[in-house]
Amino acid sequence: MMGPKEPVQMPGAVDPDEVVEVGNPAFTSKRNFLKSGLVALAAAVCLPKVKSSLAAPPPRSYHMIIDPNRCTGCQACVIACKGRNDTAPAQFNTRILIGETGSGSQARAGFRPVQCNQCENPPCVPACPTKATFRLPSGVVVTDWNLCNGSGNCLPACPYSARFLDARHGNRVDKCDFCLDRLEQGLMPSCVEACSPNARLFGDLNAPRGEFARYLEMAGLQAERPELNLKTSISYVPVRQGRKGDAA
Ligand code: SF4
Ligand code: SF4
Repeated sequence: MMGPKEPVQMPGAVDPDEVVEVGNPAFTSKRNFLKSGLVALAAAVCLPKVKSSLAAPPPRSYHMIIDPNRCTGCQACVIACKGRNDTAPAQFNTRILIGETGSGSQARAGFRPVQCNQCENPPCVPACPTKATFRLPSGVVVTDWNLCNGSGNCLPACPYSARFLDARHGNRVDKCDFCLDRLEQGLMPSCVEACSPNARLFGDLNAPRGEFARYLEMAGLQAERPELNLKTSISYVPVRQGRKGDAA
């Protein structure tokens, strides 16, 4: 969020000296990357190629893949997000829904992380009378707290109930922004970093790497409520049926 927190800068304006590793478990800044003597040696060997690839970084297109099959419901992501964003009591930028799949001997409890889906066609944007909410070219939908008047007009426009008036921040509208300030530093969103089973994968669709890239090729990835056709920047892995240990 912007305003009293920090001004929004374009993620595409990230210091080109920041190499961003997009695979899990975490983004790694070039500075940290180069702290490793082994990697520094490799970097020295490959320096011209690395430099040219960073000279004109392409626009970023941030995306999160959530694999509910890996989610243990531990809430570490919720706690990390809460600490990061300092939302008011009982208000959260990400939540874990608990459901059930199958029945009888096949019944399993299931967990589903939910948050703002960073829609490409976000209904919350035209609903805002002060133009406080808008979408960055990187795909992140943000709210400028300098412009938000707290009317709450955008709340019912969001079909995912992702927005809320945050009493801890002057009753302005809050929601997930993929930890934009962390992205600008070459870091992963806090929830991604906190997730030990790697149920959340994050990366740049224009430069996918590592496990994020492998997940992108997975069949059946789909948006939450795909019938809405909001072209979300979060995709979900289909939930597998069957018991632990069953053949895939
Ligand atoms: Fe699920 Fe990961 Fe969040 Fe734990 S940290 S609840 S495993 S998404
Ligand atoms: Fe807006 Fe809701 Fe879409 Fe997020 S999920 S961009 S708050 S409509």
